[in-house]
Amino acid sequence: MAANILLVEDETGIQELLKFNLTKAGHQVSVSGDAEHALQFLKNTLPDVILLDWMLPGMSGIDLCKRLRNDERYQPVPIIMLTARGEERDKVLGLDSGADDYMTKPFSPRELVSRIKAVLRRRAPQMTDEPVEVNGLRLDPARHRVQGNGQTLELGPTEFRLLHFFMTHPERVYSRAQLLDQVWGDDVFVEERTVDVHIRRLRLALEPSDHAGLVQTVRGSGYRFSVEVG
Ligand code: CA
Repeated sequence: MAANILLVEDETGIQELLKFNLTKAGHQVSVSGDAEHALQFLKNTLPDVILLDWMLPGMSGIDLCKRLRNDERYQPVPIIMLTARGEERDKVLGLDSGADDYMTKPFSPRELVSRIKAVLRRRAPQMTDEPVEVNGLRLDPARHRVQGNGQTLELGPTEFRLLHFFMTHPERVYSRAQLLDQVWGDDVFVEERTVDVHIRRLRLALEPSDHAGLVQTVRGSGYRFSVEVG
């Protein structure tokens, strides 16, 4: 499970140590030395995980965390706070800020790698390789296969990712912009109506086993994957 990680940390020693170890674990790491730089970076790139140091020059890690949590675009991104303080009160503050997890320095890079895996599994299950099944529709990420009631369905790569995201985030409405962020990533520029095209293709691909109705249009809002009749 390789992830794009943004590390926001001002101490170069820790930057290098973490970057080295996370890269070795198969992740892609980008580094920001302060919150302002991180915000600038995030405008163009949405990482899979943010590692956020508490004490930063300028805006603190906690303030940055709160700010990200109040922005729809960043809400799905797991945040792990890194800090030198270990007091309980601070821990609570850290979690109240909307962080998903909390690590007190010094920590072992190996521990950090396993925490990253854990938050991804919780917050971004579409990044794991575990098969998902909903109402007879089964998607197996490791084998890249989709079956509807035992019948193999043919999906293009984008439809596959879209379905994987939907199946791991059921019963929630996603706007076109959110789907672009989550499924396409931000390295590419695509128009929102591209989403509609792929939704149509996805429904078509799900028709042979009668699962097209799971992908529902929510007028004025976007799309939802739901077992309830829309
Ligand atoms: Ca610091």
